[in-house]
Amino acid sequence: MRIEVKRDLCIGAGACLAVAPDVYVLDDEMKAVVTNPKGADDNAILESAKACPTLAIYIYDDDGKQVFPIVG
Ligand code: SF4
Repeated sequence: MRIEVKRDLCIGAGACLAVAPDVYVLDDEMKAVVTNPKGADDNAILESAKACPTLAIYIYDDDGKQVFPIVG
């Protein structure tokens, strides 16, 4: 899985860190950054993306297909 945080959408709410604290940190602009994409299992990473109030976290599978947010 690949995790991408859309910085323009992140409001620093911290929900992703609450769900997957070993994956993300907030940087000095209060934007989430991925420090350890292996810091949680796939399910927890998906849950962290779902927890984001602004849907700032995009998840891609190993083939590069977007799996969250769900498209079409
Ligand atoms: S939950 Fe969303 S808005 Fe909050 S810090 Fe994480 S990416 Fe940013």
